[in-house]
Amino acid sequence: MLGHNVKYSSKLDDALLITIAKKEQRVLLTHDLELYQQAVAKGVDAFYVEGKTEAERLAQVAHRFHIGLEIDMTTSRCPKCNARVKPISKDKIAEKVEKSTFANYNEFWECPKCGQVYWQGAHWMRIRKTLDEAKENSEKK
Ligand SMILES: [Zn+2]
Repeated sequence: MLGHNVKYSSKLDDALLITIAKKEQRVLLTHDLELYQQAVAKGVDAFYVEGKTEAERLAQVAHRFHIGLEIDMTTSRCPKCNARVKPISKDKIAEKVEKSTFANYNEFWECPKCGQVYWQGAHWMRIRKTLDEAKENSEKK
């Protein structure tokens, strides 16, 4: 959502994660110390993410990679498939969202790749809260 090119999967095994990171020149972010050490041993740029809460972990990553903790939908990527989301007019998504969502929100974004529709609903508020907590965490450092 913060506009960074990210690949995420909890299903890939360690060897494959390392291979992908190396091949696509990605930084491997992990909370798994063993995976981190294996990646470093294989010359992959890796970052060991510590922290008890999501906000603490996000603050660490933001600090290390100079990531701004503000969402700008013009640069946001789809959390599901990593494509850039695009604004879509309300009349085009009527069939794709619940009636209450359609009634309560006016701004929508769609992923051109997987078709997922986004709006700034309850889930959005939780994301904002986590970002605010992460910002507080960063400021303490
Ligand atoms: Zn998508």
